[in-house]
Amino acid sequence: MSETILYIIPSDPYWQPDQAASSRAVALIEELCPDALGDIETDESDAPAFIDGAGLDSLSCPRCGTQLDFHGWWMARMDEAYRDSSVSSLAVTVPCCGTDTTLNDLVYNVPSGFARFRVTVWSPNRRMLDDEELTRISDALGHPVRQIWSLI
Ligand SMILES: [Zn+2]
Repeated sequence: MSETILYIIPSDPYWQPDQAASSRAVALIEELCPDALGDIETDESDAPAFIDGAGLDSLSCPRCGTQLDFHGWWMARMDEAYRDSSVSSLAVTVPCCGTDTTLNDLVYNVPSGFARFRVTVWSPNRRMLDDEELTRISDALGHPVRQIWSLI
């Protein structure tokens, strides 16, 4: 049986909160997920980690909308980004229209993204966060946030 996981991440893949901001955000997320069946925890990493939403299987160009090759082109770019353990750059140039962008800005078929800080809610047992809730979390953290729903 799979478990649902809600990730809340800063919109900037490199941004990290200080301890006070992190604690404020976690306290609010606990309040917003009163029926969570699992733990609510934070993770930080030196390099941006990729968080894939449930059902991720395609992506497209943020500039022209062309569908990009998921298993070929994208997997190769991900391998390149992670070959250097510091992941110094998420920069990519899309093959469709030659636009310089980043792996974080590609349009994934389900919300997915990179982060050096994340709050993880195991089995949140609730619906998606609405815009007002996301705004409250952003205010607590001091940075805009996104939600990613995943399954393991
Ligand atoms: Zn394009």
